[in-house]
Amino acid sequence: MTAELHEELTDPDGEQLDHGAASSRPLKSRISEPQPRGAKIRGNRPVDQSEAANRFMAATEHEAMHDARLWDLRQKRDKEMHGIEEWEELRNLASGIKEHTLSKLDYYLELFEKNATANGIKVHWAKDGAEHNAIVLEILRSRGVERLIKSKSMLTEECGFREFMAHNNVEVIETDLGERIQQLDDEAPSHVVVPAVHKLRTDVASVFAKTIGSDPDNADAHYLTECQREATRPLILSAQAGMTGGNFVVAETGTFVVCTNEGNADLSANTPLLHIASIGIEKLIPGLNELPVFIRLLSRSALGSPITQYTSHFRGPREGGEMHVVLVDNGRSERLGMEKFWPGLKCIRCGACMNTCPVFRRSGGLSYGATYAGPIGLIIDPTFNVHKYRNLPYSSTMNGSCTNVCPVKINIHEQIADWRKTLAGEGEISPVKKVMMKAAGEVLASPVVYRASLPLGRSALRHLPHFMLYNKLNTWGRKRDIPETPKQTFNEWYRRNRKSQGEGENS
Ligand code: SF4
Repeated sequence: MTAELHEELTDPDGEQLDHGAASSRPLKSRISEPQPRGAKIRGNRPVDQSEAANRFMAATEHEAMHDARLWDLRQKRDKEMHGIEEWEELRNLASGIKEHTLSKLDYYLELFEKNATANGIKVHWAKDGAEHNAIVLEILRSRGVERLIKSKSMLTEECGFREFMAHNNVEVIETDLGERIQQLDDEAPSHVVVPAVHKLRTDVASVFAKTIGSDPDNADAHYLTECQREATRPLILSAQAGMTGGNFVVAETGTFVVCTNEGNADLSANTPLLHIASIGIEKLIPGLNELPVFIRLLSRSALGSPITQYTSHFRGPREGGEMHVVLVDNGRSERLGMEKFWPGLKCIRCGACMNTCPVFRRSGGLSYGATYAGPIGLIIDPTFNVHKYRNLPYSSTMNGSCTNVCPVKINIHEQIADWRKTLAGEGEISPVKKVMMKAAGEVLASPVVYRASLPLGRSALRHLPHFMLYNKLNTWGRKRDIPETPKQTFNEWYRRNRKSQGEGENS
């Protein structure tokens, strides 16, 4: 982080500011580099995350801000965790509850449908994104809806919902501020919890100036929020339908729970009389007794705050209103049958694995070119399209930090390693990597060749011309420094010392 930016994020007493306070301080006008955009998507061609990451890192103000903001969240999460003695017990419980529910998913889904129907909720089933969008459109058309307000939902991102509705002349207004910023900028969310975290306030000022006519030179957070409120409230109040997601679906009561910090889900659900909730089938939990385990873990893991500001239970339609729940599969049943990759379904979308990941913090969520970024994205995205997302499992240092912070104990780094093996087995590996892996395999398979290669490698590292490592074609070399080569390898040291102790060459 630059000294100037550190000063921005630190109060006069030298304390790190909390997320909200840091966000509300006006930025100095010197921070004006353009916002780096996300990965280039070319049909079904493999996404080049490292290319987009390089562009993000080259925008040094953005990179430093992003890294600092997310690391701040990680530190707050740690502080909360240390305040709860039974933290590990909670993680074990949460993992166990999710595993139990997933192992009896058909039972709990039917139980939810029965109880929700008894509560007056109309339950729909969608096998994929297209079916989900068609079901929602049918509900909206049959009631003459032209404007829908919607709270943030990663599932609807999976389904391409906003684009679909735009093609069908239904206006969708996001009620989450970060998501609304992304909508106005025609970008996907870059993080599951803080969708516009990759943007500087000067970026937001520029987006609002172009879309809602605010002052482009005023990047004060209060001013920008007020402008957005003024512009959006009339649209929200005149919407004929509202949409939410659902964090937890309670089978025994036929109800669902939505957690937000802005109260925007409540706005979406309670302003119009028609409420549609789009929910992935993995969000089930057996009963209300299990809910507090997740409520205690979710916000602490996500933002390092003890609880979300709003934890709303939706039990049925209001008087004179309608409530629909669309339960969406979209590849989840198939993932449940994947021996190594089913635990990804335990995810409660807290984003903690993103906040801790050194690759994510420095490359920005949009560099992944997929609905889910960061460590959780590396293990989920290839289940949607193995060819397109085949490079993503390599965007990890494999330090295991993601696994350590995950509140539902998903073995993320092990799955990343398993994806690498699976992709290699399926031939889904880039030609350069294939050649390098083959050569490495041959060297590592033979002790004689391996030992012979060590001095050669050392000498090459010392004497290779600089441009051979640091050039446009070698993305590995960018942002990496080659460590100083040691005078001798461990193998040489070992042989020499054992020999001097009279144990000879055979040891
Ligand atoms: S994988 Fe774990 S840490 Fe990452 S978003 Fe999901 S629940 Fe949170």
